Amino acid sequence: MDREVRVRFAPSPTGALHLGGVRTALFNYLFARRHNGKFILRIEDTDQTRFVPGAEDYIIRSLDWIGLDIDESDLKGGDYGPYKQSNRKHLYAQYAEQLVKSGNAYYAFDTPDELEAMRKKLEAEKASIQCYGPATRMTMKNSLTFGEEQTQLMLQAGKPYVIRFKMPENEKFTIHDIIRGDINADTSVLDDKVLYKSDGMPTYHLANIVDDHLMKISHVIRGEEWLPSLPLHVLLYKAFGWQDTMPEFAHLPLILKPDGKGKLSKRDGDRLGFPVFPLHWEDPKSGEVCKGYEEYGYFPEAFLNMMALLGWNPGNTTQEIFSKEELCKIFSLEHVNKSGSKFDPEKNKWFNKQYMERLDNSVLAKYFIEDAAKDGVTVDAQKAETICGLVKDRCHFTHDLWKESTYFFIAPTSYDEVNKKKFWKEDTPAIMREVVDILEQQPTFAAKTLEENITKWIKDKELGMGKVLNPVRLLLCGACKGPHIFDILENLGKDESISRIEKGIEVI
Ligand code: GLU
Repeated sequence: MDREVRVRFAPSPTGALHLGGVRTALFNYLFARRHNGKFILRIEDTDQTRFVPGAEDYIIRSLDWIGLDIDESDLKGGDYGPYKQSNRKHLYAQYAEQLVKSGNAYYAFDTPDELEAMRKKLEAEKASIQCYGPATRMTMKNSLTFGEEQTQLMLQAGKPYVIRFKMPENEKFTIHDIIRGDINADTSVLDDKVLYKSDGMPTYHLANIVDDHLMKISHVIRGEEWLPSLPLHVLLYKAFGWQDTMPEFAHLPLILKPDGKGKLSKRDGDRLGFPVFPLHWEDPKSGEVCKGYEEYGYFPEAFLNMMALLGWNPGNTTQEIFSKEELCKIFSLEHVNKSGSKFDPEKNKWFNKQYMERLDNSVLAKYFIEDAAKDGVTVDAQKAETICGLVKDRCHFTHDLWKESTYFFIAPTSYDEVNKKKFWKEDTPAIMREVVDILEQQPTFAAKTLEENITKWIKDKELGMGKVLNPVRLLLCGACKGPHIFDILENLGKDESISRIEKGIEVI
């Protein structure tokens, strides 16, 4: 890369950071790290009507939780600040006026009613292009139709105005996108977008271009929804005379619903029971509370890993587990897919499981001890480690560990009806009594010897493993679940195992 890589994540603080935003931030981050560049956070809050209190803080906390360290932002500092657009307000007017002076933009004084009348007229005429643009601008109230003198009078009189981009007529050109290749642009279908409003606020388009230029952004990596704005953005760079330093563009594919039909939305998460935000979010307007990936029990490393593979692939390898550090070394925009990526909530759980299984049992034991304590059960570290080792391959989250193994510490008070129907037969109580006798006779209660002795006994008696061991499991655990039965026996110990079986025979 000849140019210093400087990329920005530029969210608007209009709500919680959704998965699409997380993925955009992540790809920007990985690209910056891969090329020893800078990852910048810029808050795009020019649209005050959509401002949501707490959203900016939420975005910053989310990036922090995922582990995306920022090089430049208002919190972090940097040479190109301020990094929040509302604090850069003073900058934009001069750029909008520069475009007016160079003939690339103009003042427009049309009232909302006049704009509405235009829209209705075009609709009634069934005009082929229904917008404020080359075909209509000369019929409207703007500096092009008023002339210099009247325009100045209107401005001096404080008439509300906007500055519109003067879209060139019928220009065709191609734009290169790193992910999508060459894209054809045709100005005949584009309108004269508003760049600046007389309330002193730029629109997204102007602020975005001016800031990317002033902040020396080298690559714009953002969601596909911005692709339709790309021709305007390229024309703005041209109008400013900034073509030589124009950033390169990469538009990321959509994240699709699990069935692949349409863009993933918050409603899909609610409907299918998976989180769509990284952290807990309470909407200040509606009061709606949403659980985040963090509260669901995801490790940030697992979350990052699965987000990275949502639209990017590592090339010729089947490897799926990547640390952040590895991704920083191998990420490339050339391996980002053009088409949308299906979101798979089950696969997310699988990722979390992979990370959990890689943790030492002593680490898992800490979560286990904490969760047990919440249920009033004290578990010593050694025991917790052993149990975690036994049940972790049946768990996706650390909070499953305790849930999956409470029966090691709390005797069952009821028995699963379905299992009971299936495994508790007329002759079962008699067999269970014999099991008690065999267990009484065991010199040690180690899983290995128990397994040898008991399976031998079952074979000798020609009873069938399932006929004996399923009811034993039911009486020990309350349901036919859990790890190897002999590990359960060993960990419960002789007295407790026997007592549960005896009690079970009575009460089941
Ligand atoms: N503020 C825009 C957004 O929230 C940023 C788009 C861009 O990256 O240019 O999506």
